[in-house]
Amino acid sequence: KAKTKGRNRYEFFDEALNAKNRERNLLEKDIYCAIERNEFHLVYQPIWSIDGQHIHSIEALIRWQHPTRGLISPADFIPITEESGQIIAIGEWVIKEACKFARKISLEGGTPPSISVNISSAQFMKGGVVEIIKRELENNNLKGANLIAEITENLLLSDQEDIYLQLKNIVALGVELAIDDFGTGYSSLSYLKKYPIKRLKVDKIFIDEIVTDVDDLALVSGILSLANSLSLSTVIEGVETQAQLATLKKLGSPMIQGYLFSRPIKEEQMLELQRNNV
Ligand code: C2E
Ligand code: MG
Ligand code: MG
Ligand code: MG
Repeated sequence: KAKTKGRNRYEFFDEALNAKNRERNLLEKDIYCAIERNEFHLVYQPIWSIDGQHIHSIEALIRWQHPTRGLISPADFIPITEESGQIIAIGEWVIKEACKFARKISLEGGTPPSISVNISSAQFMKGGVVEIIKRELENNNLKGANLIAEITENLLLSDQEDIYLQLKNIVALGVELAIDDFGTGYSSLSYLKKYPIKRLKVDKIFIDEIVTDVDDLALVSGILSLANSLSLSTVIEGVETQAQLATLKKLGSPMIQGYLFSRPIKEEQMLELQRNNV
């Protein structure tokens, strides 16, 4: 009897897996037309000084407006594009769009905040991303300082000379490197010494329970002092409540990004917000 039950469970599992694969393949097909059909756009989320007084930088985040399924989250399609290689074209489009936006921001006058762009490890594995960044900076009359490249720890895990060189070349353009989702990857801390990293973005999972969980509090406090000793700047991601903010203020955290201050917003709204940014 147990055997039958077990087999049924496998069949059920198989079916669920097949459904998931079918769904994945359907999305992959749709993604092929998505760029041409203008279905992608970027939204922008400000990264604020902890006092909420000014916008330090702005993260560009991709959105996919699917013709029949509606808005699809990057968490649901970026991994597919990384597997299929579609991320190469999409990633190039993102850099282009983000630089166009940075240009608009810089035309507003004042000291423009840098635009922070997520760059997938796959784009570095394939190569050519440094040239794309260089070209788009030039095309839009930007300085390297107008851009921040967000990479993940996993990129540094392989410790390849070629990746190291690409990152060095990006930094040579004046672009800052930030480690996204810091603390969630599989890397060792030694990369902080080897690579020209300027900024850590502390992942939301450490913040969710920071008010009640002393371990999370200790971890974030530790990350902040580590960053401080290494002269790295830090952004705390996913700050949603006043209580979290108060805790982070006590820890002396410099910058925060989260729904409490702003959700990701459309370009026009972001430009409007920036006009009031001093
Ligand atoms: P990420 O780079 O860590 O971006 C931060 C994510 O956290 C964004 O989700 C943002 O909307 C969300 N977030 C910010 N503050 C809060 C908060 O207070 N509460 C909650 N619940 N969420 C908050 P989003 O836009 O859905 O993006 C998810 C991930 O998809 C990004 O995580 C990034 O890994 C990836 N992604 C987004 N855009 C791009 C892109 O242009 N290229 C690549 N390669 N990946 C991208
Ligand atoms: Mg990011
Ligand atoms: Mg992040
Ligand atoms: Mg994240």
